[in-house]
Amino acid sequence: MAGHSISSSILLPRWRKNIQGTLQPATTVEMSSLVSPRHVAVIGGGGAGLVAARELRKEGHRVVVFERRRQIGGTWLYDREVESDPLGLDSSREIVHSSLYASLRTNLPRECMGFLDYPFAAKSGEGRDPRRFPGHAEVLRYLEDFAEEFDLVGMVRLGTEVVRVARDELGRWAVRSRRASQEKDEGLTEEVYDGVVVCNGHYTEPRIAEIPGIESWPGKQLHSHSYRIPEPFLDQVVVVIGSSASAVDISRDIAEFAREVHVASRDEVGSGAVKQPGYENFWLHPMIVRAQDDGGVVFQDGTSVRADVILHCTGYKYHFPFLETEKVVTVEDNRVGPLYKHVFPPSLAPWLSFIGLPWKVIPFPLFELQSKWVAAALSGRVTLPDEAAMMDSVRASYCNIEAAGWPKRYTHNLNASQFDYDDWLAAQCGHPPVEEWRKEMYAAASTSRRADPEGYRDRWADAHLVDRSHMDFQALTR
Ligand SMILES: Cc1cc2nc3c(=O)[nH]c(=O)nc-3n(C[C@H](O)[C@H](O)[C@H](O)COP(=O)(O)OP(=O)(O)OC[C@H]3O[C@@H](n4cnc5c(N)ncnc54)[C@H](O)[C@@H]3O)c2cc1C
Repeated sequence: MAGHSISSSILLPRWRKNIQGTLQPATTVEMSSLVSPRHVAVIGGGGAGLVAARELRKEGHRVVVFERRRQIGGTWLYDREVESDPLGLDSSREIVHSSLYASLRTNLPRECMGFLDYPFAAKSGEGRDPRRFPGHAEVLRYLEDFAEEFDLVGMVRLGTEVVRVARDELGRWAVRSRRASQEKDEGLTEEVYDGVVVCNGHYTEPRIAEIPGIESWPGKQLHSHSYRIPEPFLDQVVVVIGSSASAVDISRDIAEFAREVHVASRDEVGSGAVKQPGYENFWLHPMIVRAQDDGGVVFQDGTSVRADVILHCTGYKYHFPFLETEKVVTVEDNRVGPLYKHVFPPSLAPWLSFIGLPWKVIPFPLFELQSKWVAAALSGRVTLPDEAAMMDSVRASYCNIEAAGWPKRYTHNLNASQFDYDDWLAAQCGHPPVEEWRKEMYAAASTSRRADPEGYRDRWADAHLVDRSHMDFQALTR
């Protein structure tokens, strides 16, 4: 067994048997007597994994970050390759992690997108993109700068994929990984850790729309995960499904080359195709009801088009192929659960945690606050409620989702409550709440994205918030 050599009882999580004889973590009362460094595995070297590594180390933990790619950055590491199965249904396919398309610019202004204490400030210099809504390469540079500034790169094992995480007989985590050098597969290694922090991202495993009749429809289908550039769609008739930020961008990208673009979305309920202003070849439709063997795609209002391509911009699934928790943590209709506050499975807290599951949020500040909480819970500086109280909280959150009429898959959609959530996390760790300007800027960007999908990245009305953010940034660097 390579790597881990800590066997001191002080450094191990305290486990006890419950009445069924199953190993469980120690109670809160026992926890509070521990303020101890742990040996922690972080899975993933994207934005979440990097900030988790920083916060864990700050708290005194010994940290190893596993990253299967040869560079840090996760999603923001653009890959021109796509998977062999453009719908991502073939489970034996070689995985391409990033879903970025070549033209992607951020959909959040840089001031509010960055980590709380490391501004995503515009930098001049070769290869830098100082725009408020920069292209994707600038975000990768920002994450690289962040890793360099906090000396994180040495903690990351690049080219090392975690293939299995399971508890051993002592209740610690056995982490099995495969390291592949450029030349050869170097085989499997198993090490033991006190804690595992899962930061593997959730924009890689496609969710596709179910369309009656699709088996005999003769056209080509792909998911936005496998969309990179618009040129291959020259002169094609393309149906795009979805209304997310990606669907909005990709349909406009393709309209430059395609003969016709038809967007099918839940937002359209009227009858008849609606011409998109400013385009000769772009229409909006309600959802698809079926596809036909003559190439026809029929919409809810009875209208139809003969299409060459259906492009599913229909989101992604949470996927943890390496995680074996004996069904303690499951993914059901895209609900990862049970998780206390989207982070800790109550019966395994704080030894297993998830960073970055919430969506419709500003990701980086949320990752940072979740990471602080996890780091402090692992050391015992912050005390979590007991298992029963955490489960009560999970059940209450499920009831709220049901009462709102939302499906399970909306469990991690925070949207309107994201800043309450951030501020709650901050309070747990003794950190100040998220800045008011950041909250207002997020709201302003969301409004202008809806009102002006073509121009919001280059025209804005929140210059006063930019000024306020810069004042805070200056105070940070003083
Ligand atoms: C098209 C698109 C546009 C977006 N636009 C924005 C935006 O404008 N602004 C914004 O703030 N956010 C945006 N996001 C959200 C973006 O995903 C987050 O900003 C953030 O990058 C997610 O970070 P992460 O670390 O959680 O996941 P990722 O960045 O996906 O990183 C996960 C890492 O885990 C690694 N990994 C996975 N499995 C394993 C394993 N078994 N072993 C080892 N390593 C593993 C992966 O290789 C990857 O490096 C966008 C996302 C997409 C898909």
